Amino acid sequence: MSEVALVVRRLKRRIMEEDKIYRCSACNKSYVYKAGLSRHQKYECGKEPQFQCPHCPYRAKIKSNLTAHVAYKHMNFRLATHMHQMFQNVHIIAQFIST
Ligand SMILES: [Zn+2]
Ligand SMILES: [Zn+2]
Repeated sequence: MSEVALVVRRLKRRIMEEDKIYRCSACNKSYVYKAGLSRHQKYECGKEPQFQCPHCPYRAKIKSNLTAHVAYKHMNFRLATHMHQMFQNVHIIAQFIST
């Protein structure tokens, strides 16, 4: 098979994979799992953050985000790393490291 054909095949596969993603019709955020999208629509989309950090003015829309925020911003690094492993959810952690 030629190299071009291989690339085309790879691109097609990627497009098919993207089709499997669940997208919020209101804000176009995408989720790999349907549960992620329903959680987003229930708690996040168009909603005010309702979980207030007890240590600073940070507010989170999802409780696990707040827990992860507290771990990273207000606890020591070892504990934060432990929390990270507990969550096994890099996306949640990455989300507010960037904010
Ligand atoms: Zn949305
Ligand atoms: Zn805080």
